[in-house]
Amino acid sequence: MGEHFGKCALCWNETVLELSHIVPKLVIRELKKTSVGAIRNTANPNGTVQDGEKDYMLCGDCEDLFNVYETEFAKAVFHPYVRGESDTFNYDEKLFYLLTSISWRSLYQDLLDFVPNHVVGIDALECLIESEKIMRDFLLHKRTDIGTIENHIFFFDQVISMEGTEHGISSAEARPNETMHRSVSSYTSCDEVGNTYFTITNMMGLVLITYYKLGPNERLVNTKVVNGIGTIAAKNQQMQSSACGEFSYMMQNATEAASSMSENQKQKAIERIKKVGEDIVNSAAYKDWVNDQNIKR
Ligand SMILES: [Zn+2]
Repeated sequence: MGEHFGKCALCWNETVLELSHIVPKLVIRELKKTSVGAIRNTANPNGTVQDGEKDYMLCGDCEDLFNVYETEFAKAVFHPYVRGESDTFNYDEKLFYLLTSISWRSLYQDLLDFVPNHVVGIDALECLIESEKIMRDFLLHKRTDIGTIENHIFFFDQVISMEGTEHGISSAEARPNETMHRSVSSYTSCDEVGNTYFTITNMMGLVLITYYKLGPNERLVNTKVVNGIGTIAAKNQQMQSSACGEFSYMMQNATEAASSMSENQKQKAIERIKKVGEDIVNSAAYKDWVNDQNIKR
């Protein structure tokens, strides 16, 4: 493996680049550690993901800068939430910085695709390009705020009821708890009719949504993370947002991945589960499966 030279996406220095994770490494590590089998890659159901999505993006200094905040995030919010130890989290400005860094990484990668391929309209594209610059300056401490951009955390906690069908998927097929709690994904989406542009990142049920533009029909209660000291809780949250459609999309992807799995892969998955034996009833994956069976339809 040779060294990979290029321009760092954050500080713009021409130097040796490291393989950066889009979703923090600690999230991938937690998912692996609590998985019964290997992590299922929804984009390629017949392969298994050994690691999260990575790209040569940042220099060593910028990687180190983010790593400090990731450790704090793990301790204060992520681990207590996914391990079911707490539902109320006190935070300070370090959380806001970390959330901004996650969405920025994801947006930066999406823009590499959006710009040449005309994925979104010109108004949305201009807003995303401007937002990337604002967040980059903030992450480099060249400014102390991110303007009108907002960071929100939505705790996708045990879904007890689902309504009807959306995007052609019936709730009988959908396994929301398994899908959201047992996966990680991150991408940017634009609702150009509703005037809402955002990056959504699912980290095992802890969903970060960074809004670059909030349309008039968005209703978000108890989800906003401020740039300072605050508290956020996995309760009493309400969300009426263009981003809600993304949950259906994520579930649809997982369902399609499962149905296109080859017989050979299914057999391997069953073998892995057998090997775990009795421990399976204590696993987080098994609990999600039980909760999915119990959803009121
Ligand atoms: Zn750098």
